Amino acid sequence: MRIAFIGLGNMGGGMAANLVKAGYTVRAFDLSEEALSAAKDAGCETFTTARDAVEGTDAVVSMLPNGGIVKDVYTKDVIGHTPHAAVLIDCSTIDVATAREVADAAHAEGYKMVDAPVSGGIAAAAGGTLTFMVGGESHAFEAAEPILSAMGKAVIHAGDVGAGQTAKICNNMLLAITMIGTAEAMKMAEKLGLDPQKFYEISSQSSGYNWSLNAYTPMPGVGVESPADKGYEGGFATALMLKDLRLAMEAAESADAATPLGKHAKEIYEAFAKENGGLDFSAVIKTL
Ligand code: NAD
Repeated sequence: MRIAFIGLGNMGGGMAANLVKAGYTVRAFDLSEEALSAAKDAGCETFTTARDAVEGTDAVVSMLPNGGIVKDVYTKDVIGHTPHAAVLIDCSTIDVATAREVADAAHAEGYKMVDAPVSGGIAAAAGGTLTFMVGGESHAFEAAEPILSAMGKAVIHAGDVGAGQTAKICNNMLLAITMIGTAEAMKMAEKLGLDPQKFYEISSQSSGYNWSLNAYTPMPGVGVESPADKGYEGGFATALMLKDLRLAMEAAESADAATPLGKHAKEIYEAFAKENGGLDFSAVIKTL
């Protein structure tokens, strides 16, 4: 089976390498020569245009920075240039409206298309342990599922087109809120004279239990090992969390959904990202 892979950056590079390992023929395209050269080393065939990469393929997978680029690549170089029986899979995190618009354009030409954003960072992309949240019709999901399984540990059909992006931004809005809440509680406990490790032991087994506290403790030397113990390097960058919060707020507005805490979380991350966009998002504790 021949798969075109477009966008082989931090995430896409590892994902494409896992498709090669699973036995697929991977035809790679990226604007960056460095990314293409790494893809070649990982066993991909490389091409200098997206149109060349998609020629004669059974599937297209993309992992690109934003909705504008996804729309451009699909409408100019993928739709109409890829064989019509192919399944189109966009794994980028983008706005729900663009995901639906691109899928509509693909459907109009007879393609199957899904939005399949991921949970998990660069290490999960390299290790093949991503979680995919997939939006699209059942027959498109069924065509995409084996390909996504070669790159992840879980592939979940969220609903129709756009449902994958919706799941992703709602999840990350919740994550931002719980991270700020966890950081607030830990700092407050410390200021009131309670040993933060004691607070962790108590709250992680009480009703304060949540992923940010239990699995990603934002204070160095407390709770489980996390980016906090490595100077907040690695992990999930503050700039990417801010990108997802902006997408979440756009979507909330379009659906007239009340998200007062999501809005406040976005403002907090906006201020923090000005100087600290490269740090892990749990470093937001430094602002408290
Ligand atoms: P990245 O910037 O490392 O990679 C993007 C790649 O796309 C680059 O190699 C770039 O050269 C290429 N590109 C840009 N425009 C292109 C075009 N027109 N044609 C072909 N290639 C083009 O970004 P990343 O960290 O790999 O993130 C990719 C997507 O994954 C984003 O939507 C991001 O939000 C999402 N995501 C990232 C993470 C993470 O931890 N990095 C986690 C979850 C989701």
